[in-house]
Amino acid sequence: MRSFEIPDYFTSELISKIKNFRRYADKRKEDFSPTLLDFGKVKFYIARHFGFCFGVQNAIEIAYKALNENPGKRIYLLSEMIHNPEVNDDLREQGINFIQDALGNQFITWNEITRDDIVIIPAFGTTLETMKILEEKGIDYRKYNTTCPFVEKVWNRSEIIGRKGFTIIIHGKHLHEETRATFSHVKESAPSLIVRNIDEAKIVANKIAGKIPTGEFLEIFKDKYSRGFNPEVHLNKLGVVNQTTMLAEETQAIANLLRNALKEKFGEANLKEHFADNRDTLCYATNDNQTATKKLLVTDADLALVVGGYNSSNTSHLYELLSSKFKTYFIKDKNELLSRNKIRHFCLKEKSVKISENYLPTKNEIKIAITSGASCPDSEVEAVIKKIVSLVDEESLRIKEPEISVLYL
Ligand code: SF4
Repeated sequence: MRSFEIPDYFTSELISKIKNFRRYADKRKEDFSPTLLDFGKVKFYIARHFGFCFGVQNAIEIAYKALNENPGKRIYLLSEMIHNPEVNDDLREQGINFIQDALGNQFITWNEITRDDIVIIPAFGTTLETMKILEEKGIDYRKYNTTCPFVEKVWNRSEIIGRKGFTIIIHGKHLHEETRATFSHVKESAPSLIVRNIDEAKIVANKIAGKIPTGEFLEIFKDKYSRGFNPEVHLNKLGVVNQTTMLAEETQAIANLLRNALKEKFGEANLKEHFADNRDTLCYATNDNQTATKKLLVTDADLALVVGGYNSSNTSHLYELLSSKFKTYFIKDKNELLSRNKIRHFCLKEKSVKISENYLPTKNEIKIAITSGASCPDSEVEAVIKKIVSLVDEESLRIKEPEISVLYL
């Protein structure tokens, strides 16, 4: 396993101990049972897999390398490095400026960027249009390009099926940096359409069945299809790829729905010509995090905590999974734990930050399921755990070494 150089303050002794304990006992990562971390009055059920993924560690290593190698130079990140406020704030404090916000709006105009500047491409990748601008300015953006190889894999997979005449359906959030980058690359080799969820996939299936007028379809998918997209022609041969951090089941459901719509239209015998059977393009980290989170659902936790940036796609899906069973709180860091009785958290449904009361039960032994997104430092998870313990029972934190064991389920 490759190791990365990332600042110590993003790592955690406690979490490393837990991860190493599990790694040692299960080298091939076959067991997704949670880990039990027992502080006596508070017990944590910790997901088997969580925290910084390969792509995030790679991006962080490259960004800090850019800082070390270029003293005195102006260093820019195209947009947020990853969706974690702690990491982004630290990069800003180190002197890195962000050119765009998460939606692609300019903080800094292109005129202000010169060939002497350093520009870092974030882990999500970027659009061909932005690459062209940087190239025209004479900026060597390849030197500090942190695009995750798993995102590039989606682009490559799409290109292969696109060259075979298939239209690419991208399951993703059309304003998300990664989906904007994927759409930009993919549309070069094939007609492309971004589908957000199963409801939008049903509209595509209805169009395949000829149940929706073309004008209406194009209006619904405004800004989500490639130039010259003709639904009468371009929905007859489809392949589905996804933003690497979507919910696995949702991508599968979308692929099945479209596959069935094409089977209805062209017949089972001709299906191969009309649907590219493409294994989903979620990355390993998304898969592992979601599998490990589903195992948390088997526990008898009193509540669940998900730690990560509020605009993090992969983290929000972990929240969705956990909230199907538990009262779940999506928090960005330990500061959201305002007191024993009050928590500030992100409400995904309302897209707003709320304060809730009495989030910790009043009983002798509290059981909490906890996980974090692929862009969340382990140090943040440790800080949350310790803050909870200190709010419930300061004494446990001071005198007791927590016990670590596997919660076989
Ligand atoms: S979540 Fe997956 S695709 Fe995204 S940066 Fe991490 S490894 Fe890469």
